Amino acid sequence: WAHSTRRLENIRREDERSRVDMVEWLARFRQAMSLLPDGVVIVDGVMHLEWCNPAAEKHLGLDRVRDEGRLLTNLIRAPEFVNYMLSGSFDQPLPFVHHHRKIQLQLISFDNRRRILVTHDVTQAEKLETLRRDFIANASHELRTPLTVINGFLEHALSTEMDQMTRQRQLHLMAEQGQRMQRLVADMLTLTRLESLVQQPSGDTVRIVPMLNHILDQARALSEGKHLITLEADDINLKGNHDELESAFTNLLTNAVRYTPNGGSIQVTWKLFGEGAALTVRDDGIGIAEEHLSRLTERFYRVDKTRSRVTQGTGLGLAIVKHVLLRHRGHLVVASEPGKGSCFSAIFKRPQLILSEER
Ligand code: ADP
Repeated sequence: WAHSTRRLENIRREDERSRVDMVEWLARFRQAMSLLPDGVVIVDGVMHLEWCNPAAEKHLGLDRVRDEGRLLTNLIRAPEFVNYMLSGSFDQPLPFVHHHRKIQLQLISFDNRRRILVTHDVTQAEKLETLRRDFIANASHELRTPLTVINGFLEHALSTEMDQMTRQRQLHLMAEQGQRMQRLVADMLTLTRLESLVQQPSGDTVRIVPMLNHILDQARALSEGKHLITLEADDINLKGNHDELESAFTNLLTNAVRYTPNGGSIQVTWKLFGEGAALTVRDDGIGIAEEHLSRLTERFYRVDKTRSRVTQGTGLGLAIVKHVLLRHRGHLVVASEPGKGSCFSAIFKRPQLILSEER
């Protein structure tokens, strides 16, 4: 008896140990599954829900506790989903839109009875793909316009005799279109480079006041004396990349010149405020209606396409500004009123600044 009791006790202990191991393993499995970005739904042979992870709850609007044992095709009634689940052919994933999310889902058999439905959220990837496609379409369109003009002039020049003056005029117009293409390509390259850089710019000290003086000289040259351009700047420097910041500030100031009629005034200020510093470019130009403000930094977005062409815009200036500011942990704030003028402020946070007493 003693021997049998000992053996029974050993078997019980062994059982207890396996049970504890199993419970621990299950807990680890559940934790791993709950951290997965992809959804996993386990269904039985007739598609009753047995278990699902939080990502699947989010992707398909399920609730593991509430929906356990219910028929999946009753829980998600979209016809394309039901057809897929009943089709019996699961080699290809099904693209499926659920509550504004784009989901790829696929059913996989995993033992004789059960199946796993795997869901993958492709909303963000699709958005990026659309952005990329739009960018290529827009860029091609932008390049096609000056190319068409140049080709038109060339064909005309080849087929017609023309006097010296007409020839000069046409060459001049062709050169203008060539420069426009060059500006466009340069801006596209700048933007692509900014977007592909994952690292923050090195923390070099960028001396802002001399940079602003230089940019103002260029803006005055562009304005050819037709605007009053003033600068009021505190002696604050920034950590970051000189060329990127110069390109962003130049874009803001040249925009002010291009969108302000002759005789207007442009004020540039570089000042400390509460939690940071702001570079503000204020003009009394044509202004921008409220509904455009949130879209200004989109690539190739223009309030008035004709005007932007006349003023030699590429439509990429503010997109470049936005990226440069993001890389310097800053952001752009725009206030404007049609007919009154605009105020563009590049805001930088305190850790990005180097004040004179800290040097
Ligand atoms: P663009 O090269 O066309 O100027 P940007 O990206 O620099 O492109 O600006 C986008 C649009 O924002 C411009 O087409 C213009 O309509 C508007 N915009 C930018 N700056 C100003 C400003 N200072 N005043 C009025 N409109 C502006």
